Amino acid sequence: MKKALCLLSALLLAVLAPLSVLASAENGDYIIDEERVIRVAYPIQRGLTDVDEDGNLCGYTYEYLQEIAQYTGWSYEFVQTDGSTDSLMDLMEQVQSGEIDLMGSMSYTEAAAEMFNYSSYSYATSETVLQTSYSKMQEVVFNSQLPQTFKIAVTGNENSRNVKELQDYCSLNQITPEFVHCDNDDEMVKAVQEDRADMLLSTSFNYLEDMWTIAKFSPKPVYFVASKNAKADIMEDLNTAIMHIEQSDANFATRLYNKYFLPQTKDLVFSEAEKQHLQETGVLKVGVLSGQPPFQQVGVDGEASGMAIDMLDYIKTHTGLKFELVYADSQNALYDLVKEKKVDLVAGMPYDYDLAQAKHLSMTQPYVSSQYILVMNDKSSNDSLKDKRPALLANSPFRGDADTEAAIYETTRECVHAVASGEADYTYIDTYSAQYYMNQPEYRNLRLISQNYGTYTVCFGVVKPGRQELLSIFNRVISTAPEEDIQNIINKNTLQKTPFSLGDLIRQNPVGSIALVGGVLLVIILILLYFLRQRARMSKQAALELKKHLQVYALVNEYFFEYDFATDTSMVSVPPKDTQGPSQLVCIDHKKPLEDEMLRISRERFLAAVRSVQNGIQEIELYWDGDMHWVRVALETVLDGDRPIYTLGKFNIIDDEKKEKEELLEKSQLDSLTHILNAETCRSRIVEDLQLLQDGEHGAMILIDIDRFKEINDTYGHMKGDEALQSMAVLLRSTFRADDVVGRPGGDEFIVYMKNVTDTEALRAKCRTLCDRVQQLTVAGSGLTISAGGILAQKGDSYNDLYVEADQALYRAKNAGRNRFQIAPRD
Ligand code: GH3
Ligand code: MG
Repeated sequence: MKKALCLLSALLLAVLAPLSVLASAENGDYIIDEERVIRVAYPIQRGLTDVDEDGNLCGYTYEYLQEIAQYTGWSYEFVQTDGSTDSLMDLMEQVQSGEIDLMGSMSYTEAAAEMFNYSSYSYATSETVLQTSYSKMQEVVFNSQLPQTFKIAVTGNENSRNVKELQDYCSLNQITPEFVHCDNDDEMVKAVQEDRADMLLSTSFNYLEDMWTIAKFSPKPVYFVASKNAKADIMEDLNTAIMHIEQSDANFATRLYNKYFLPQTKDLVFSEAEKQHLQETGVLKVGVLSGQPPFQQVGVDGEASGMAIDMLDYIKTHTGLKFELVYADSQNALYDLVKEKKVDLVAGMPYDYDLAQAKHLSMTQPYVSSQYILVMNDKSSNDSLKDKRPALLANSPFRGDADTEAAIYETTRECVHAVASGEADYTYIDTYSAQYYMNQPEYRNLRLISQNYGTYTVCFGVVKPGRQELLSIFNRVISTAPEEDIQNIINKNTLQKTPFSLGDLIRQNPVGSIALVGGVLLVIILILLYFLRQRARMSKQAALELKKHLQVYALVNEYFFEYDFATDTSMVSVPPKDTQGPSQLVCIDHKKPLEDEMLRISRERFLAAVRSVQNGIQEIELYWDGDMHWVRVALETVLDGDRPIYTLGKFNIIDDEKKEKEELLEKSQLDSLTHILNAETCRSRIVEDLQLLQDGEHGAMILIDIDRFKEINDTYGHMKGDEALQSMAVLLRSTFRADDVVGRPGGDEFIVYMKNVTDTEALRAKCRTLCDRVQQLTVAGSGLTISAGGILAQKGDSYNDLYVEADQALYRAKNAGRNRFQIAPRD
């Protein structure tokens, strides 16, 4: 009978009223023991003493025992059984006999208290609960003001303790229960799912898949038990540990409960009231701390970012709620906004009931949780914190070591900065913030001390008095947010690497940076010095080369020059006048204006040549010293890629050569006896002139032959004949205009081509004058006559045709008796 009672309490379905527990924690300081192995009963029970998919032990009781071990230094030997009734009985017997040291999940019964030694403090509270499916939660709404009837699935009969508790609860809330009797938990769940029941009756530590608690009552504390004969110190250590756990982290048990017993749902479903609230709610003002990265911060661009902001975006996407951010630059400023009701929410606050109470905020479920750690400057030693100064936030949960006065700051950044700069020695920050700051180049001298200083859990705060719907909407979104979405938000905000800039390097290591910059400058200066020296050496070398060149130029008596495209100047070496002494180096600036028109033209010609980028020889006529001179220029242009830089060259005055050439040319064109044009030159000149004839313009060709010339030769000799020919040439030259062609094709025959002849009459008049003038000539005392044939030329006439026509006219003149002329007719 006793065993059966114990079993009931072990299963947590016993419904005995809780007895007041006598506190006995006056044992004073606790000391972590030498490692001690505690044997613990471990019946496999869902969520309490469980084994996960990977075979690891887990569960509420398991984790609580691990936390206890932090304080006691215990290690455990778990005596595992399958959780069946028989195995539970067996385990309890072993506890009773002292073979097993501890067993958890026990509620208090007097009967059991006779068999076991109970811990002074409970480590959990079991409640009788009404649960329903997630989808039904919206329909099943208790209203204690109205009488309601619900179908409730139960496993026990009406005498069962929990059914009695339920009846009490129902009568208190005007509920009429209609019991749906089931044999076991599975049947109850089925009844709810199949709509045969609105809800089921269970206990809070009885995990039922997808069942949500909608009401709870009759709380019962849950204890560890040990053998009556167990050594007293086990219970003492256990009691002290539980007390410390509860005192240092009031939420520890709640979190464990939530972790193992709160059903997880993937679907986000709002109740009717929540839906209506979403529709009615306008823009919500959210207080955001502007300097608490990576949770909430405002960048230089004025944009807010951080986990809280991303979480707000997530909520906005899933609810359609609209938020307006109101920035606060310190915790105090943020809570002032709350106090003055200038905001409806705060984006991020520690999940701290006391803080929430003090600041009139309701906390949503936490969305991010991390561990507090210690951050130090890498120059400080971490042997003891006694003589070190902590940097703390005004409302920090930490106080540092009492011996040293803490430096108080408004923001986490200021705390971190104080440590980085050496103003303070250490601070406590959560691992996410630590990660964020360590990624900033300016805080790379921070060192993390990997010791756990508790948990930093962040939630939204809803300003009181606020609508419950808003709180539940936030909680629904947070609790249904998939783990990977939350993790993405965390990663996005903590894993960013800030590019390492030169400024950061300088800030972080000023001495090193100065040395580095100094070094770089020194190298630059050395390189500059080297190049300057090289240049000086090259200039000296160039000057020597130039001197050498000038000496050579002096020897060869030639002009050398170098034209610089960039400056538009020329350096010219002018040979000495008397061929003695060195050449003169003259710099000519071609940009200078020139008065003299001739000089200007000459300069243009010279520049056209040197800028032509045509290497080789050019002959140009230039003006200087009051005279035109022919110059032969040899050019060589130096290019940089396609760009001309210099044109180097030399020039010689070739006036004499040019003159000689012209004379030679002239000679080749003249008849050697009479010095008028020879046959070939006459022909080419006349051809050129004929090509220039325009419509209506006329020229004229006249062929002239001395009459009976042979007789002169024969009578007076060839010398006199030659003189006669020369006199004839002189007469012809003086009879016609300078630009008319006058020549001697051969023998005693002459040819004239007249330009600009008006008509045949004019030609005729000219021929008459010619014949008359020839008659004035005397050779060895006797007169001379000629016969001539002329023809008027017009556009399109060929030399040969004109010649033939003129020759025939001459022939006719000879035949007609000589000393006369004939003009060929024109059609
Ligand atoms: P015609 O009136 O028919 O013209 O009789 P002509 O004697 O003048 O005969 P033609 O014109 O045929 O003779 C030209 C002569 O001129 C022949 C030649 O001996 C002579 N002659 C040609 N070249 C020269 C020259 O360079 N010097 C001299 N002195 N006589 C030359
Ligand atoms: Mg003749």
